[in-house]
Amino acid sequence: MLIIGGGTAGLTVAARLRRKGVRGVAILEPSAHHYYQPLWTLVGAGAADIASSVRPQADYIPEGTRWIQDRAEEVDPVRQQVLTRGGVRLAYDFLVVAPGIQLDWDRVRGLREALQTPFVSSNYDFQLAPKTWEMVRAFQGGTALFTHPATPVKCAGAPQKIMYLVADHLRRNGLAGKSRVVFGSGARTLFAVQPFARVLEGVVDRYGIETHFGHDLVEVRAGTREAVFAVTRDGRRERVTLGYDLLHVTPPQSAPDFIKRSALAHADGPNAGWVKAHKHTLQHPDHPNVFAIGDASDLPTSRTGAAVRAEAPVLVENLVAVMEGREPTGRYDGYASCPLVTGYGRMLLAEFDYEGRPAPSLPFINTLVERRDLWLLKKYGLPRLYWDWMLRGRA
Ligand code: FAD
Repeated sequence: MLIIGGGTAGLTVAARLRRKGVRGVAILEPSAHHYYQPLWTLVGAGAADIASSVRPQADYIPEGTRWIQDRAEEVDPVRQQVLTRGGVRLAYDFLVVAPGIQLDWDRVRGLREALQTPFVSSNYDFQLAPKTWEMVRAFQGGTALFTHPATPVKCAGAPQKIMYLVADHLRRNGLAGKSRVVFGSGARTLFAVQPFARVLEGVVDRYGIETHFGHDLVEVRAGTREAVFAVTRDGRRERVTLGYDLLHVTPPQSAPDFIKRSALAHADGPNAGWVKAHKHTLQHPDHPNVFAIGDASDLPTSRTGAAVRAEAPVLVENLVAVMEGREPTGRYDGYASCPLVTGYGRMLLAEFDYEGRPAPSLPFINTLVERRDLWLLKKYGLPRLYWDWMLRGRA
């Protein structure tokens, strides 16, 4: 059994397989560190320490599971082989595909150079999240611009959570009157799932945030502090330039390149590049010994760790069934959740399924309103749940 990727999904699956007594499992994962990425939102707002978002990968590889510290370069599902960057050909009987999503920084012209300046940052990177806070602290007024690309992203709420935190910070520090907070988003709406979108619209109004939808960041001109967006109006594509004094970028994202090239992915259509997975069983439709999970999959849900937590037990149940020659009958219903931080000490929790129906999991709490206890859950409860329960295959 080979698992490609030892991130949120790969480790959770490995831990659950171990608890079921499955032997002969290997994880192919290049990184010596494991990151709890959801914390980076709070790190960027000065509300959490970056060091608490990282732990040694070795501490979370389950006992008895082999860790191959290398990177997948090619997958051949017919020969049941994976070629690594180190030139090793790994054979498998069963494969779990969990390499996450790729950050395409180079798809925005000038972005890499702009990230070298003190005025541009991104919470989507471990090194940059602390810089976001440095940038916010140094900001003394002007235009604070936040972007969301036109591609799918992991945690669709993250591009705007940092915006609400910064807007709150400006209010608390008497800078709101001297500042303009602007959201340039390649999406068409604030959030795909009603009624959460309605609550967020209220938050945007409260902070007086200026929104520009259908605006896809394509270039950053660091020298003149300008962000250039591609905008489609009346069928015509045009460019719109906005100046900034502070810029938080969420980079375009796509499936990892080795997945795009492989026979496991959709060759074309709206899901081109993503790994095919049955939306309820997570089994690959063409290769029954392959399962996909997490951000690299084509599952039509929000790409989040919360979704992975709901996907993993179903995947493991179905994988074990297939190993034993049975039909995969476990069903994933599309559950995902997004902790929508709307200010310091404020959060609502968006939980929903494939149909966009609210799927609340916390009894006795109205998670549709901004609450302090939910903020405490995000800051203290969820990291604990992640490190001690989810990655250990216990939750
Ligand atoms: P990852 O956890 O990213 O793991 C992928 C792994 O695959 C990595 O370890 C990587 O090194 C490895 N890999 C990559 N390429 C290869 C290769 N070629 N070969 C082998 N291994 C490879 N989720 C929430 O639920 N709630 C939140 O509040 C939240 N906030 C977020 C905020 C930010 C700023 C970010 C960046 C993410 C946030 N997320 C949140 C999303 C969440 O972190 C991801 O959805 C989740 O980690 C997906 O799990 P995954 O295993 O698919 O990918």
